Amino acid sequence: MTDLERHDYDVVVIGAGGAGLRAAIEAHEQGARTAVVCKSLLGKAHTVMAEGGIAAAMGNVYAQDSWKVHFRDTMRGGKMLNHWRMAQLHAQEAPDRVRELEDWGALFDRTPDGLISQRDFGGHRFARLAHVGDRTGLELIRTLQQRTVALGIDVFMECTVTRLLTAPSEQGTAGSVCGAFAYRRESGEFFALQAPSVVLATGGIGKSYTVTSNSWEYTGDGHSLALAAGASLVNMEFVQFHPTGMVWPPSVRGILVTESVRGDGGVLKNSNGNRFMFDYIPDYFRKETAETEEEADRWYTDKTNNRRPPELLPRDEVARAINSEVKAGRGSPHGGVFLDIASRRDSDYIRKRLPSMYHQFMELAEVDITSEPMEVGPTCHYVMGGVEVDPETAAAVVPGLYAAGEVAGGMHGSNRLGGNSLSDLLVFGRRAGTAAAAHAKTVSALGLPESDLEDARDVALAPFERGGGENPYTIHRELQETMNALVGIIRTAPEVEEALVKIEELKVRAKALTVLGQRRYNPGWHLALDLPNMLRVSECIARAALERQESRGGHTRDDFPGPSDKWAQINVICTQEGESISLTRKPLPVMPPELAEIFEESA
Ligand SMILES: Cc1cc2nc3c(=O)[nH]c(=O)nc-3n(C[C@H](O)[C@H](O)[C@H](O)COP(=O)(O)OP(=O)(O)OC[C@H]3O[C@@H](n4cnc5c(N)ncnc54)[C@H](O)[C@@H]3O)c2cc1C
Repeated sequence: MTDLERHDYDVVVIGAGGAGLRAAIEAHEQGARTAVVCKSLLGKAHTVMAEGGIAAAMGNVYAQDSWKVHFRDTMRGGKMLNHWRMAQLHAQEAPDRVRELEDWGALFDRTPDGLISQRDFGGHRFARLAHVGDRTGLELIRTLQQRTVALGIDVFMECTVTRLLTAPSEQGTAGSVCGAFAYRRESGEFFALQAPSVVLATGGIGKSYTVTSNSWEYTGDGHSLALAAGASLVNMEFVQFHPTGMVWPPSVRGILVTESVRGDGGVLKNSNGNRFMFDYIPDYFRKETAETEEEADRWYTDKTNNRRPPELLPRDEVARAINSEVKAGRGSPHGGVFLDIASRRDSDYIRKRLPSMYHQFMELAEVDITSEPMEVGPTCHYVMGGVEVDPETAAAVVPGLYAAGEVAGGMHGSNRLGGNSLSDLLVFGRRAGTAAAAHAKTVSALGLPESDLEDARDVALAPFERGGGENPYTIHRELQETMNALVGIIRTAPEVEEALVKIEELKVRAKALTVLGQRRYNPGWHLALDLPNMLRVSECIARAALERQESRGGHTRDDFPGPSDKWAQINVICTQEGESISLTRKPLPVMPPELAEIFEESA
């Protein structure tokens, strides 16, 4: 392809969210020639939507907090399936990453003493989330974006990578990553990036579900690109359904209602006015959860002598409880439950702490949250499964390939605690950037595989050249409905099997779909190129969900209620051979005794 636009770098980062920008900054600072590619405009990545805060045991509000308590909370929240070393590094390094953000210009809310303010969130023993009102993601992205621009890092914005390129065998480094193939969304033109190190920081998969809090970018591209390049995915069955999404009006269904509402005193009630979460405290969390409303209310001002309200149990527990209340006929008029902060906090407090929530409900639902309860229900929010990586370096099994942020797996086990994603992005984004830059120094230019470039172009153009096929929107809608109904919050083997049959049918139809019009800013074409990624990732989720015969964290099997000791020791790994996905079971890495003791101490 002599006419193809080409660029040469040491490190290419795919994604400009928190993980991607932090990786790019680090790679640049290590001396690597670095570029970032992203689907949307710089500053608009999904991270910008993050609301509640960044979890880091800085001890600004409760001096008793420490990395060990954060580590323990994270592992217990993930029902001990987290990679222990990732959870350890995350808890140890998060405070430095937050302070570093502040050094770079982030303006956090303050305590009365002038320290970075930290707020309560589900599953965290102490108030731990550094925040900026309920717009923390905006501040995080603003800070990293300004630094990226100030350092002069090249950014290819509104560009989508459709293929990772690996070195051909004659170069003696067969299978190593050597670059990426992409198109410009605005013009439809293709280009190639040559680099010995590629960092995937592409975020999640939520657009495979109908009801989701996720943005349009969440089509699982990075998961799918990694699989196709020879990497493995770990524990894809674990999809987080956040308990509180908007349920009404239909046009805004799924939009997130931040956990900060509950962290700041909001409570969940059913149609009888009962605080039903007291009926759903699992034995696993009983010792650390308040038994009465009085104790729960006292906890907000005295955490040392009281236990956490059940509204702040980890998200998987709260989402399942809401689901059960609605099923039992005790839901709100539009199929959710009530989230009430109005009767518990004054108007000024709500508007200061939760300005975005106030506006969101006022503008979108005509509900004034300072005087009325909200109606909320579960929404697909986050994927715990992702690219299997080495904890120290974020390296995937493919030489030269790294993954950080939501696209990477392992850190959060079967369920992520709120606030632990933003800290994950910073800790492992930095680690990925360091390792990618170091790897690039050890590899001489690999060249680009010409036949793969031609194939990537032909595959991308095929939807224009086929006539008479369906449009991609129909197939996308059917996939979303299938995943929502059959591989959603509660699963059974017959339903997941039905979903897999439907996904196979959709894969065949997607291969024959047709796109009309031209390459210049054509959303139908963009969706046609995203669809194979969503289908591949959905297949991984469904197959892994069928494989894991237990209920744990974000994966609830009605036919296997409760966790099993056997499955507590197993990771489910997906790999791709040709077009087909294979599953293997892999034992969990063993936690060293000095860390295991932390759990014995608190038992
Ligand atoms: C409403 C909401 C509120 C949240 N609040 C919090 C919170 O308070 N605290 C917390 O810890 N977590 C929160 N989360 C979760 C958190 O925001 C995300 O998990 C996190 O931002 C993901 O960051 P990332 O860097 O991995 O990916 P993203 O920020 O999603 O960035 C992905 C990037 O990859 C690019 N990309 C994707 N595919 C391609 C491709 N094929 N080619 C080129 N570029 C590509 C995208 O354009 C984008 O730039 C929230 C999530 C939502 C939806």
